[in-house]
Amino acid sequence: MPEFNCEETKSYVHEFLHNELAESEISEVTAHLANCDSCEGEYDVESLLNKAISRACVDTPPEDLAQKILLRVRDIQNGAPH
Ligand SMILES: [Zn+2]
Repeated sequence: MPEFNCEETKSYVHEFLHNELAESEISEVTAHLANCDSCEGEYDVESLLNKAISRACVDTPPEDLAQKILLRVRDIQNGAPH
């Protein structure tokens, strides 16, 4: 599983907002944001996610995706390895 560094995350956020990422890549980006103070300060994870999901709602059940990713982010922030 790739771990994104800050530079990669910043470049991926752009695609993220244009709904060009696979679900696994969205998870990577949000996982980095959840773990990285520098990136977290720069981006509001939940508002990014909401924007991405509102774009994705055409072909993805938005609540399922949002909940899955937010739960994953919370797990990471709580230190659960999962
Ligand atoms: Zn970072």
